[in-house]
Amino acid sequence: MRPFDYVRADDPAGAVAAAAERPGAAYLAGGTNLVDHLKLGITAPDLLVDLGRLDLADIEELPDGGLRVGAMVRNSDLAADPRVRRDHPMLSRALLSGASGQLRNAATTGGNLLQRTRCVYFQDPTTPCNKRAPGSGCSALGGYTRYHAILGASDACIATHPSDMAVALTALDATVVVLGNDGEKRLPLTTLHRLPGDEPERDTVLEHGDLITAIELPPPDRAARTRSTYRKIRDRASYAFALVSVAAVLELDPDAARPTILSARIALGGVAHAPWRARRAEQLLAGAPATRESFRQAAAAELEQARPVAGNEFKVTMAQGVMVSVLAELAGLDEENKEPRDE
Ligand SMILES: Cc1cc2nc3c(=O)[nH]c(=O)nc-3n(C[C@H](O)[C@H](O)[C@H](O)COP(=O)(O)OP(=O)(O)OC[C@H]3O[C@@H](n4cnc5c(N)ncnc54)[C@H](O)[C@@H]3O)c2cc1C
Ligand code: SF4
Repeated sequence: MRPFDYVRADDPAGAVAAAAERPGAAYLAGGTNLVDHLKLGITAPDLLVDLGRLDLADIEELPDGGLRVGAMVRNSDLAADPRVRRDHPMLSRALLSGASGQLRNAATTGGNLLQRTRCVYFQDPTTPCNKRAPGSGCSALGGYTRYHAILGASDACIATHPSDMAVALTALDATVVVLGNDGEKRLPLTTLHRLPGDEPERDTVLEHGDLITAIELPPPDRAARTRSTYRKIRDRASYAFALVSVAAVLELDPDAARPTILSARIALGGVAHAPWRARRAEQLLAGAPATRESFRQAAAAELEQARPVAGNEFKVTMAQGVMVSVLAELAGLDEENKEPRDE
């Protein structure tokens, strides 16, 4: 038995105050990740601050046409929201590709972002793991690496971030709203999760007591020239984490004589300690013709940085293939002819 205290917060400021004064405190949202970790003995907070009563379960329209998604909005409600489905179908798809219907009914927006890695060794307290027990070693190196990182890893940790939603939000350039001891701060979602470096125990840049209160989605680009989607490759059709996933937004120039890319925003999941924004590929694609060759070159340039370990080399080819396939789909390239008809 490990005793711990439990409080229900009535408002965000009360939650932050309760957590800030106890270094061993943890927030409890839907509990679908944290409660498993309590049972497995992966974490042992001495205080649980229950967020269930916080008035953070609404999706509101912002003056600029964007959406503010409260941290306690359930994954199923976010995926089903008509405005999200219309303006950000990529986000709905990402959410619906995760977990199961029952889990999505309980899981929250804040909790989904801050869920911890599914590395099998992290979840097994009998094995060394630098993330769970800093300095104890990394059992994944030389072990089971199928779900592990090929980009941005370190000698201390090769874990991946498991969230599908976070990958879509990364490609969407969402903003995270955080209430901390020093007041409210707003940060681009692309900066929330960190690479492991020599501190793999830190998943994000948040400080103890920081409470995610909302995610803000930018106003939609309803122009027909912008298309987006999310694709997830996994070992079985449902109830499995991503081996590789791709969220992509492609903006095509309708006035160009040949199909041309104005801009691309691409994020990869299942390949790094954080959702991986494919900046190299994006730079190469801006202004390039919308052809398979452009997509191949961009994907190859992005994956040039890959450093797979024994057992997950296949993910490099897989990530390139999915990137090319997703981008070609968004560009409307004919599957059989492999290039636009007018080329
Ligand atoms: C069998 C199974 C399969 C799954 N498959 C997938 C999948 O395919 N794809 C996927 O993306 N996810 C998957 N998940 C993970 C699931 O999406 C997460 O467990 C869930 O989103 C976590 O949300 P929660 O509200 O339950 O968080 P909790 O478990 O309550 O909390 C998770 C963490 O976030 C912290 N936290 C929660 N809310 C806040 C906040 N507002 N501010 C600061 N800290 C906070 C908690 O302290 C805790 O550390 C799966 C889970 C299970 C059990
Ligand atoms: S990859 Fe990271 S989480 Fe997994 S065992 Fe190594 S240190 Fe732990």
